[in-house]
Amino acid sequence: MDLQLKDKVIVITGGAKGIGAAITRTGVDEGTIPVIVDRDQQALQQIEKELKAKHKQALCIAAELSKPEECRRVVTEAHRQLGRIDALVNNAGVNDKIGLEEGSPEKYVESLERNLLHYFNMAHYAVPYLKRAGGAIVNISSKTALTGQGGTSGYASAKGAILALTREWAVELLPYQIRVNAIVPAEVMTPLYRQWLDTFPNPDEKLAGITAKIPLGKRMTLAEEIAWTAIFLLSPRSGHTTGQQLFVDGGYVHLDRAIT
Ligand code: NAP
Repeated sequence: MDLQLKDKVIVITGGAKGIGAAITRTGVDEGTIPVIVDRDQQALQQIEKELKAKHKQALCIAAELSKPEECRRVVTEAHRQLGRIDALVNNAGVNDKIGLEEGSPEKYVESLERNLLHYFNMAHYAVPYLKRAGGAIVNISSKTALTGQGGTSGYASAKGAILALTREWAVELLPYQIRVNAIVPAEVMTPLYRQWLDTFPNPDEKLAGITAKIPLGKRMTLAEEIAWTAIFLLSPRSGHTTGQQLFVDGGYVHLDRAIT
């Protein structure tokens, strides 16, 4: 199936590592031009080098997205250099464990800045260009929005709000044929996940305990499996899908845990 994405410009936040990098690479395989936005400069340089070696066009922008002016700069720069923006993947985020008791009002707001506000800001600044392109948005949420995790009020509430915004924007952008969908991952091995796992005294044992509870295949979701879904959702091949939440999680959230 030709996804009809050749030369489409896709802005991917957190696009240099983990799930974002998988979306970058999958998009490039489909002929898209990625705008890779990340604060990890080393990871940005690595992916830039990798794509250059394959003679692929890409624009890398280092930015700290929790600052609204950085979101504006990223979008303006992407449009200035590439002349169009066809799609946005809001992906950057971090499970920063700002809990109900250990957190504070200030830390809670900071967590929302890290995990939620830049989703709005990026979409806000990108919408004028997406309108011209009849583009699409994919928002990456998390299972914690629905299951909770404990000790992570900031992250969980941000991820829940992202699902609400997905529906809200899908409605608001109907007149412009801009589709907005969310992907809800559960357990994906990425640098962020590895970091979290390594906080446990026995990471291997912890990982085995987690995968044993994933209904389909008793395995982690591959970052590529999130990416394939994201790129399909951005493509005209999913042209009548909007306002949806796709759980790419091996049945983690919805299937009966008793079966595991
Ligand atoms: P990752 O491995 O940490 O990759 C994310 C990239 O985004 C990193 O390079 C990170 O830089 C960057 N980034 C984060 N916040 C940023 C900011 N404010 N400004 C600029 N760059 C920023 O993370 P991942 O596991 O791929 O997660 C990607 C998304 O999936 C997140 O929204 C996460 O909540 C969601 N998710 C992941 C899982 C999972 O199992 N991995 C499950 C559910 C949801 P730093 O390394 O400097 O932070």
